[in-house]
Amino acid sequence: MPHPLRSVAVFCGSRFGADPAHGVAARALGTGLAEQGLKLVYGGGGVGLMGEIASAALAAGGAVHGVIPDFLLRAERPPPSGMTALEVVPSMHARKTRMFELSDGFIALSGGLGTLDELVEILTWRQLGLHDKPVVALDIAGWAQPFLALVEAMIGQGFVAESGRRLFQLAPDVPECLALLRAAPLPDSAMPAARL
Ligand code: AMP
Repeated sequence: MPHPLRSVAVFCGSRFGADPAHGVAARALGTGLAEQGLKLVYGGGGVGLMGEIASAALAAGGAVHGVIPDFLLRAERPPPSGMTALEVVPSMHARKTRMFELSDGFIALSGGLGTLDELVEILTWRQLGLHDKPVVALDIAGWAQPFLALVEAMIGQGFVAESGRRLFQLAPDVPECLALLRAAPLPDSAMPAARL
């Protein structure tokens, strides 16, 4: 059966992380997206987990669309060839907006502050009703646990609504993550992304 979504953005680290499980998951996710016919939208880099997921998706015959700010072309070194598209944009904000526009859903794979920024921003846009695209956080080697604890603490302190828990789903591994995306209700394409 064709996948209900066409493209998924993956936010992930420009480093590999200390635990090899993160690299294993990045490769499995790249392969899994390609096998399901989902286009990978990502930050366009060839370094760390970003490079791993892009190469795995391309090796499995998938489509890969990178979006990278011009000033990061040197530091994040896009993969040399084979990308379906590599868009060079003028700023970090343009990158996030463009990745949002290109994607029907979002996955936060392991990463650092940049990954966290991207995950939180997409959740705040959803909290504001600017979109209802599915968001899944992958909990590889416990990566998502401190974030979950922070959200729970903010709910307990009365700064986040109880419904904040439903802004994203948590997946313990790549197969569950892909299953959650397949089962997610279709996003409403009429929502006001123009207000981003
Ligand atoms: P990191 O998780 O810190 O390794 O970063 C992962 C990706 O997020 C890299 O491509 C960074 O360039 C990107 N990134 C870092 N900060 C931001 C930001 N404020 N907005 C958008 N992307 C960012």
